[in-house]
Amino acid sequence: MIPYGKQDITQSDIDAVLKVLQSDFLTQGPKVPEFEAKVAGHVGAKHAVAVNSATSALHIACLALGLGEGDWLWTTPITFVASANCGLYCGAGVDFVDIDPGTYNLSPKALKAKLERAKGEGRLPKVVVAVHLCGQPCDMAAIGELAKEYGFRVVEDASHAIGGKYQGEFIGSSRHSDITVFSFHPVKIVTTAEGGMAVTNNDLLAEKMNLLRSHGITRDPSLMTHEPDGPWYYQQVDLGYNYRMTELQAALGVSQMHRLDDFVVKRHELAKRYDQLLADLPLTLPWQHPDSYSGLHLYVVRLQLGSTSRGHREIFQTLRNQGIGVNLHYIPVHTQPYYERMGFKKSDFPQSMAYYREAISLPMFHGLTEHQQDEVVAVLREILGKSP
Ligand SMILES: *Cc1c(COP(=O)(O)O)cnc(C)c1O
Repeated sequence: MIPYGKQDITQSDIDAVLKVLQSDFLTQGPKVPEFEAKVAGHVGAKHAVAVNSATSALHIACLALGLGEGDWLWTTPITFVASANCGLYCGAGVDFVDIDPGTYNLSPKALKAKLERAKGEGRLPKVVVAVHLCGQPCDMAAIGELAKEYGFRVVEDASHAIGGKYQGEFIGSSRHSDITVFSFHPVKIVTTAEGGMAVTNNDLLAEKMNLLRSHGITRDPSLMTHEPDGPWYYQQVDLGYNYRMTELQAALGVSQMHRLDDFVVKRHELAKRYDQLLADLPLTLPWQHPDSYSGLHLYVVRLQLGSTSRGHREIFQTLRNQGIGVNLHYIPVHTQPYYERMGFKKSDFPQSMAYYREAISLPMFHGLTEHQQDEVVAVLREILGKSP
């Protein structure tokens, strides 16, 4: 089976991890700060807080922004459940904004209309999570403008997007947001096995997230309520978690970051090749907004169902049967039973549902060979009834 995504591990990655195993620190040593500095430096953010997953990063980002009971978090239905669940972890309510039919990202137009209505009803969101689907950045300038106008905070869920750019600046520079979150799960662009990071330019948000990832405990006298009792002293000044990243993970991350540019360039080469090889098939290929340079975590095609006699499900199943590990990103979150119980109806977000009925993620990862890519294309051609 050709998978839809796969990590790329070299001997240097392995050596970096082994070196940590033989060192004094398996956790809370020098590698985590080194990895944080590396990512912050690369993306142009002032601070970085490494954690054990992007899910944890989203959680502490929302907490740092003060999200709590009685508040609302809004995000897109076309995302992994974690982009929405972080609101529920904080005791807030979650609502959704439909996608733009061109980029499949949260639509600023739909956002504006929903904000207008919410203002009248006194239920404006406190936090909006903008997800850069497939690695293509959202229209952050428009979202940032609306944030100022309606007074909400913005978290970029850039789990798909490290190494990508928006209007010429790396995603993570957080020019139009408060915090940006990355994921280092093995299918993502850079991996630490499990892992995530929150970056921000705001000193207070960084300090708060730093506390929350490790029990709310500090050893910094300036954050304590009184002078330390002695050299052993620490204080718990907030209710935090154990969301720490290990030194092994950070060492792998540092090593992987050396190849980030390569990773993204290779993904662009593969996407360009798909674009050419699939151009005559009844598929809508990924459209890239001129403001964006995508990290290209995913390559999603949409079936033009009017132009083929076979259905989405049948085409998907046939691809899997033929050894092509396609996937679907994502099942609209508002249709998950847990969310449905909150009262969401499928028809609430029609663009998201239309996308769901047509989308297929084709294999896209650093080690995908041209030969494998040709195989993906050949199988698709056969299914869609077009010979080469
Ligand atoms: C992968 C992913 C997450 C969660 O990342 P983890 O590191 O696995 O917690 C969150 N949001 C999006 C959009 C993702 O793709």
